[in-house]
Amino acid sequence: MIVDTHGIALRITPYSETSRIVSWLTPDHGRIATLAKGALRPKSLFLGQFDLFQTCELLYYFRDDREVFTLKECCPLTPRTRFRAHWAGAACASYLADLVGRLCPSRSPHPDVFEELEFALDLAATGNSPKAVLLSFELRLLAILGLAPQLRMCVTCRRKPPEGNGRFFFSVSRGGLLCGDCAARQSESAPGMPPDILGIMNFWLKAGDVRSAQRARCNREQLLAIQRLTGLLMEYHLDLKPDSRNLALEIIGKATELSTGR
Ligand SMILES: [Zn+2]
Repeated sequence: MIVDTHGIALRITPYSETSRIVSWLTPDHGRIATLAKGALRPKSLFLGQFDLFQTCELLYYFRDDREVFTLKECCPLTPRTRFRAHWAGAACASYLADLVGRLCPSRSPHPDVFEELEFALDLAATGNSPKAVLLSFELRLLAILGLAPQLRMCVTCRRKPPEGNGRFFFSVSRGGLLCGDCAARQSESAPGMPPDILGIMNFWLKAGDVRSAQRARCNREQLLAIQRLTGLLMEYHLDLKPDSRNLALEIIGKATELSTGR
């Protein structure tokens, strides 16, 4: 059976000297792997037809008993060529592709993740605020996977900020807010949740998509606080602490230093 679909190229690995295995995220078939036979041969029909982080139209031969399908045809729909010049954006894209590859099982439909990843890659390719794109995408991906942190009220007594003594904390193990009184009663130490961080994270979660999430203006300290919280959340609930995240954040940090002279 030939399947005609769209896919975002998450990963390209050598299979032989001239053939490549391309891992894609598709809206209806989830994550799939295809073999582009002879992709690097001088007369190959695949030459220049796919690259990392591009959205392509692809035709492949589906077989139920295979893990890797043979790619028949491919052509780029959204080439995102600006990644070649914006290395901080490319580092962001590289991490997002790795994250989606780890969290989206193969062959299960993920139209909402596909759409969010498309928007996030478009944003990252512009080179603007790659760190905010990275962090807001992480949070929204957690929400799509049913792991959104509870940020509206205390997970124990259901008081809403700024009720109680006005101070709120974040419980990593319970995945949500704790009011000052409930935080004082539990043994686990919980990082503080200042109102501005809470406001940004709630805005990101409630925004229609990752593009509208970028309307929140965040400073460096706010992004750093959110980076810590989402990192702890992913580590605790998904057992995920990928090197690609640290690497992307480091590269983005260096790029920001260079551009701002800080
Ligand atoms: Zn409480």
